[in-house]
Amino acid sequence: MTESIPRAAMPLPPTAALPRRRLLCSLGVGVLAGVAGRSVSAAPGEAGDGPIVQPRDPEPEAFLARAFALRQRALELGDQPYGAVVVRAGRIIGESVSRVVIDFDPTGHAELSALRDAGRRERSASLSGAVLYSSSRPCPMCEAAAYWAGIAEMIHGRDGRSAGAPRLCG
Ligand SMILES: [Zn+2]
Repeated sequence: MTESIPRAAMPLPPTAALPRRRLLCSLGVGVLAGVAGRSVSAAPGEAGDGPIVQPRDPEPEAFLARAFALRQRALELGDQPYGAVVVRAGRIIGESVSRVVIDFDPTGHAELSALRDAGRRERSASLSGAVLYSSSRPCPMCEAAAYWAGIAEMIHGRDGRSAGAPRLCG
């Protein structure tokens, strides 16, 4: 079977001289477009298809607690210690553990995976006005994805620090 190679998968020009962050920004849209185009499978019994259990009190502390519960779950699954939830209008609309190891996916960060989960559940690529809660500050890749999704604010860490609105290339 012949597959067309997406533009983002084409060989890249030499970039060894570029700083890592600038390299990521230079890949920019192409990388994310490549990511967005493929299906994402959930590990058996993991978030993706089942209903999301909403916290009793729709407060930032509860959403952060959920992100940290997912962080712990990621560890139990043998993945990296990160968790994230996407919240809009006081409801969790998407969530994920880190899926890098369990999906063999270098882009399977918890934040990016939570954005994907929210998009699937909302049946929309726009998560306009939503807040991204995560156990750690989103990396540049995840921040760029949040930017494209229309995330209004990123909140992270045990003390609920705000990183503000996502920017495309911090
Ligand atoms: Zn990330």
